[in-house]
Amino acid sequence: MQLSEVKSLIENQSKVFIVTHKNPDGDAMGSSLGLASVLRKKGCAVTVVAPTEYPDFLKWIVGDDTVKVWGEHSDEIKKSAEEADLLFCLDFNALHRIDEVGELVSVAKGKKVMIDHHQQPEAFADYMISDTSASSTAEMVYAFVESIDLDYLIDGDAGEALYCGIMTDTGSFRFPSTTSRTHRITANIIEKGANHSMVYRRIFESNTEATLRVIGHCMSTMELMNEEGVAIIKISKADHYKLKIKKGDTEGVVNYGLTMPHIKCSAFFREDKGIVKISFRSKDDYDVNSFAREYFNGGGHVNAAGGMSKDSLDATIEYFKSIIKNK
Ligand code: 5GP
Ligand code: MN
Repeated sequence: MQLSEVKSLIENQSKVFIVTHKNPDGDAMGSSLGLASVLRKKGCAVTVVAPTEYPDFLKWIVGDDTVKVWGEHSDEIKKSAEEADLLFCLDFNALHRIDEVGELVSVAKGKKVMIDHHQQPEAFADYMISDTSASSTAEMVYAFVESIDLDYLIDGDAGEALYCGIMTDTGSFRFPSTTSRTHRITANIIEKGANHSMVYRRIFESNTEATLRVIGHCMSTMELMNEEGVAIIKISKADHYKLKIKKGDTEGVVNYGLTMPHIKCSAFFREDKGIVKISFRSKDDYDVNSFAREYFNGGGHVNAAGGMSKDSLDATIEYFKSIIKNK
């Protein structure tokens, strides 16, 4: 499939289905709703799908009230996937990352476009835009919209959605993936009317009491493997009850480990519904993507990845330590 075909499907005001990864983050929701805004302005009928719920601090983005969440709106999602002429898969590299929605996408007859920056993408789309060096999918969505000459449709609202994706995935423009192109695109977004300090406040000044208590708790129970440069942060099921933790309250906790200069890898283990969900963050060439793939059935990026384990919390952490010691 050629880019010109994607462009003409959009110009013909097609039915569009946009889906992003489960447990959507700022880039997932920002890139999806940013693209949705532009395509709606062009006259397309757009359905935006989240495979699971997502945190409240992302619920201000324009178009959020139209998002269909699997489980809550499954019938509408099935119908939209069947009827779509064009399906966009944003910010994920393999269909298993969208759970049951993946089956709908794989049998859908519309053309599929992937826009993503994760490592080792699977070839499930008709048109694949994969750039593992891109700071964020939102940055790639901006470049894509420009490539089909629709950037004039990016207004302040769409800009704020994309800014949210770029800002969150670059750690507020700090990670090495932040390039001059990132800043140029961001500058354009601001010129188009995006209120960047509003976006910052919505995302980073949205802490609940629970979030701050969680950070305190996690820092006091953090284990350090100083020689190996590894920090281990954990939350048990009992902590969930005790600290009244809701989805999103633990967001970003993993990053604190890396603020010590000698720590190269921070791992966050969270006991959740019978499994342990793991987040990895690292610095420089410490590759947590391969690590998560090899040992924890996951993946992601070189410096930010996730995985899971079906063992207990303690057993998972012991296993992790043994791998690190033999690394
Ligand atoms: P987080 O730790 O914020 O959940 O995820 C960090 C990065 O790794 C994100 O880019 C996310 O998409 C990816 N990631 C998280 N969990 C998994 C997983 O289980 N499998 C894969 N392939 N990627 C994951
Ligand atoms: Mn992303």
